[in-house]
Amino acid sequence: MPTETFEFQVEARQLLQLVIHSVYSNKDVFLRELVSNSSDALDKLRLESLRDDALDVDASDLHIEIETDEDARTVTVRDNGIGMSYDEVTQLIGTIANSGTAKFLKELREAQDAAGTDGLIGQFGVGFYASFMVADEVTLVTRRAGEAQGTRWTSRGESTYTLESVEDAPQGTSVTLHLKPADPENQLHDYTSAWKVREIVKRYSDFITWPIRMTPKPAPATEAAAEDGDEKAAEAGAEAAPAPEPETLNSMKALWARPRDEVSDDEYHELYKHISHDWRDPLEIVRLQAEGTFEYQALLFVPSHAPHDLFTRDYQGGLQLYVKRVFVMDGCKELLPSYLRFVKGIVDAQDLSLNVSREILQQDRQIRMMQRRLTKKVLATVKELRTKAPDDYATFWREFGTVLKEGLITDSDNRDAILAACSFATTHDADEPTTLAAYVERMKDGQDDVYYMTGESRQAIENSPHMEAFRAKGIEVLLLTDPVDEVWVDTVGPYEGKQLRSIAKGQIDLGDDEQSATDEEKEKKEKQGEEYAGLLGWMSEHLSEDVKEVRLSARLTVSPACVVADASDLTPALENMYRAMGQEVPKTKRILELNPEHQLVRALNQAHGERDDHTALTETAELLHALAVLAEGGQPKDAGRFVKLVADRMERTL
Ligand code: ADP
Ligand code: MG
Repeated sequence: MPTETFEFQVEARQLLQLVIHSVYSNKDVFLRELVSNSSDALDKLRLESLRDDALDVDASDLHIEIETDEDARTVTVRDNGIGMSYDEVTQLIGTIANSGTAKFLKELREAQDAAGTDGLIGQFGVGFYASFMVADEVTLVTRRAGEAQGTRWTSRGESTYTLESVEDAPQGTSVTLHLKPADPENQLHDYTSAWKVREIVKRYSDFITWPIRMTPKPAPATEAAAEDGDEKAAEAGAEAAPAPEPETLNSMKALWARPRDEVSDDEYHELYKHISHDWRDPLEIVRLQAEGTFEYQALLFVPSHAPHDLFTRDYQGGLQLYVKRVFVMDGCKELLPSYLRFVKGIVDAQDLSLNVSREILQQDRQIRMMQRRLTKKVLATVKELRTKAPDDYATFWREFGTVLKEGLITDSDNRDAILAACSFATTHDADEPTTLAAYVERMKDGQDDVYYMTGESRQAIENSPHMEAFRAKGIEVLLLTDPVDEVWVDTVGPYEGKQLRSIAKGQIDLGDDEQSATDEEKEKKEKQGEEYAGLLGWMSEHLSEDVKEVRLSARLTVSPACVVADASDLTPALENMYRAMGQEVPKTKRILELNPEHQLVRALNQAHGERDDHTALTETAELLHALAVLAEGGQPKDAGRFVKLVADRMERTL
């Protein structure tokens, strides 16, 4: 096959441009990315050779090799791993196979400042393309294990790359970087020097479980031969010298098996970057060493940013599973519940079979036990984070609070631990969210329930009429604005014996501060009940198409009216959510509550008792209902009619 030239996919081209022009200060990481890819390729080859005896592969000395050439200014990273077929090279290197790419690149372009761009690039994991930060040409030669033909890929990082078939490629992949011209100002970045390579590997890739080797250059030939400039003489000189021993640059020690105090945070962070393809440091490290009959070690990481596709079907969660230090599976979802799918890391089990399959994992009792324990450990770590590092906890909550709360719906066994890791916006403090425990501690004498209200935003909830009596009496209300909040509050059950109660649902009886007031209050209520009986009955009938009932309210101090739901009813937001998911939901009628102390309500009551011309009355009743709906952020049923009624009245008052 002749050499063919191809265009990079648009997204790939844009990403390349960003990498090339990125001011990402730490260019050293290109080597980490290449080594990381080689390591993955070796893992895959080992797994494939185990699964398929017939596969014609050489898995005898799996390793990574780095070679530098000062004169040619090249660095080569070579592995004898799985390699890529011709088609795979096109798919994997020429395109970015990610549905979120378009959206992501838009964010990238919008991130004006360099720091922002680097952060976003990091989130995406440019991986192989990082080579173009230091090289002006990259050549990749690869042969897929078990195939005869190899492939050579070359690109200068501009809009095109070339592909050709090659006959004599060894199994695996070698990537050769033709480095950009040396910068005399900055000798530190001479990637052809052995000590520089050694240092980078030690720093970023020490834990890689495959040997990373570097063969020192043969000792220079004798001066005479060198001066001769005669190729033959140089060759003869090289032959004469004893072949130099390759040096293994990494210790290959599994970080999760080493005592915690022996490993620095930096080392943990590099491992995190290798397994997560994230360029940023993790927020928190979680270690677990389980001993006894079923022994395993876990090294988990809570990232510092939620991936952009966390809530899509495409999201690839899951941990890496090792058995006795040997990598056996990636994306192992059985080890953590779905609401912790953002956690990355490694679990190394002593007693599983190396041939363990996903089907086995799904039914394995030991895996379930591990899941239980890992879940508790992660939740406990998050809870501790709040006191240990409040800023980190705030980051955690911003990034992962929503997904964690899914657990309140799906994992009743860990309900208390999840609640303990959650925080909630509250009327108690405009900035600092609260825990349920702190809320309960602050509860007033005689308050039996934990009050909350769900809504679009903090502001919308705080301005809603339902809040009035709570504000007047200084009773704390949790402000829940996540769509998922609508769901879990109904399923979660009592916390420390206290029921969670929506202030927009059911009857509210806030009791009274002083016992002595009770009798007086009762009497007043009874009197009001009698006074308003006629109006309430008439309005209930007149508005029966839209409301189930009209009654007097105990939650209003300022507004004339509000709408509430029965304790068991769906909230309007939840109704909308179900409809958006395509489910049939019958329209639930709500309850209209009137404030008996309000001038307008009083006047309406009086008018209802006196007059028999009811047009003005019915219009006022309708308007009251519309105002109540508007006040909680809803829409009046007939906006045109509402506007006309209001305009008429305004005109009359002039
Ligand atoms: P990532 O590693 O995050 O998937 P990269 O850009 O680093 O992204 O690599 C893209 C893909 O190219 C890899 O997922 C892998 O399938 C393939 N690849 C890269 N390097 C190698 C290699 N040395 N051997 C085999 N496949 C490779
Ligand atoms: Mg990679």
